[in-house]
Amino acid sequence: MHAIQALQAGGPDVLELVEVPDPTPGPGEVVVNAVAAGVNFIDTYRRGGMYPMPFPHIPGSEGAGTVTAVGEGVTSLAVGDTVAWADSPGSYAEFVRTTAARALKVPAGVDLDVAAAIPLQGLTAHYLATSTYPVQAGDTILVHAGAGGVGLLLTQLATARGARVITTVSSDEKEQLSRAAGAAEVIRYDLLKDLPVELPALVREVAGGGLPVVYDGVGRSTFDASLACLRPRGLMVLFGASSGAVPPFDLQRLNASGSLYVTRPSLGHYIATTEELQSRADGLFTAILDHSLDVRIGNRFPLAEARAAHEALEGRATTGKVILQVR
Ligand code: NDP
Repeated sequence: MHAIQALQAGGPDVLELVEVPDPTPGPGEVVVNAVAAGVNFIDTYRRGGMYPMPFPHIPGSEGAGTVTAVGEGVTSLAVGDTVAWADSPGSYAEFVRTTAARALKVPAGVDLDVAAAIPLQGLTAHYLATSTYPVQAGDTILVHAGAGGVGLLLTQLATARGARVITTVSSDEKEQLSRAAGAAEVIRYDLLKDLPVELPALVREVAGGGLPVVYDGVGRSTFDASLACLRPRGLMVLFGASSGAVPPFDLQRLNASGSLYVTRPSLGHYIATTEELQSRADGLFTAILDHSLDVRIGNRFPLAEARAAHEALEGRATTGKVILQVR
């Protein structure tokens, strides 16, 4: 089969299209012929060496497609079923081996491209809005990178729960998309000269004070500003590092800034049991089918152009979900 390999740690140019043997399912596993593989920031952290990985490796951990082979003991899935998968390394490939019990059956009516966006960004937006901080009606919250994959979904989920959402974005197009997803206020943080001072001032003016929660997947460039947006006992949800990792941090700052909380959540801990995984996925698929959640596929690349997909994602040139079209 064709697959993309990261040959060594480095920039997008370490990604190469290669031919490798087709996978075969082990006990409890299925093999899926992928229609689409999701591209996520974590794939770039792994490719670049921020998260240790063996090399060469096939990047990617999510996608959607059709089951073509089932392993010993698998009764929950059959050849021909359409599934999405959340946590299977090696997803930038024509065929992907995944654990049957963790595969998400894609309901009729949900496009497989859209289903490929659910396992990472969809489930992340879901746990952030419902569990890390259960967003309440009447909350005013801040979501950075509001036109990104997680950003668009989190804005919609939080708005549906009755929150007023403020977002940050870096272009006019992204501002329009973020507003269409429900953002009440959109701040062009790329135009601010002194982000750590100007952003909290703008947010506090718009919100009429500090916020109960900030969702920050941008990391290094926004962390200080995010902390300064919180009200006493507010929660800083640092869930990513698209601008780089946040440097070591003096915990005393939490005291001085108002008994603040900081959490650095990871999806794996919020879908640890199959029940939790399925229940979050069910919530998302239901919302897609009743049209209360719009999953925007902003950028599509052929599998062979994974390098361009990584360049676009890291270059802030994408909106919503980025997928590799496998067939
Ligand atoms: P996005 O689609 O949000 O893309 C990242 C966005 O970050 C860009 O579009 C850009 O938006 C913004 N950004 C700001 N500064 C930079 C920079 N210097 N370089 C690149 N981008 C920048 O990505 P995802 O939705 O896939 O992921 C968002 C974050 O969530 C990532 O950090 C990812 O690692 C994290 N994540 C965390 C999970 C968890 O469980 N903890 C699970 C899934 C994702 P703009 O141009 O508007 O500034």
